[in-house]
Amino acid sequence: MWEGWSLSMTDDELLRRARRLLSESESPAAFTGAGMSKECGIRTFRGEEGFWREYRAEDLATPGALRKNPRLVWEWYRERLVRYGEVEPHEGYHALVEAERRLGSLPVITQNVDGLHHRAGSSEVVELHGTLRTVSCMEEPGRTYPLEPELLEELPPRCECGAVLRPDVVLFGEPLPVEAISRAIDLADSCDLMLVVGTSMVVFPAASIPYRTLSRGGHVLEINPEATPLSGEPGVLHVSGGAAETLPLLLEGW
Ligand SMILES: [Zn+2]
Repeated sequence: MWEGWSLSMTDDELLRRARRLLSESESPAAFTGAGMSKECGIRTFRGEEGFWREYRAEDLATPGALRKNPRLVWEWYRERLVRYGEVEPHEGYHALVEAERRLGSLPVITQNVDGLHHRAGSSEVVELHGTLRTVSCMEEPGRTYPLEPELLEELPPRCECGAVLRPDVVLFGEPLPVEAISRAIDLADSCDLMLVVGTSMVVFPAASIPYRTLSRGGHVLEINPEATPLSGEPGVLHVSGGAAETLPLLLEGW
């Protein structure tokens, strides 16, 4: 009984401290991962019957696969796009937008390629692993198109020059986009609070971003259902919970 009582007090106190950290932050930034969009109910491929069981993401999302069998790779991406289109950003996304409104600024660094932060209305989204919102010509560097459904009526989609278009996501074996990584590093080095949401903190180099904030004496507020390697670090406040439920709670009372 005592244990339960003190535990719930601790949760309450944790939330109060988390709210204070966020509301008093002068230069916050957010860092989100797969856990964030998973809560939208995007169906996953794993364990499902059918065609895609024969492939792993690591075999399809590579530059080699795209060159060898662009139609197959694009069928896979088209399926993912359909799934993203089926869901709406959850309350956690809207809470980040509301926090941005109150604090004046809240850039979001994300490892997700689904465009959900854009759809929710965040003003600045740094997409570390690229995006499925646009595609680029494989032969003409820098020639980019918005990824509209019409483009995928015939696969693979092609540039006006006839070359195959590729999704602007980081494929396996490719480096992170230089501009995004350098903006993320700037933010990590200049923010006083990094709000980390829904990331397992195991995919490097992206996972090194919050550590930069910590090493400069900044704070990290981590919202994850389970503890991660980051949770125990000095300067980290870990609130255990999902993004959709917990982020709105951080906005109460200020
Ligand atoms: Zn072209």
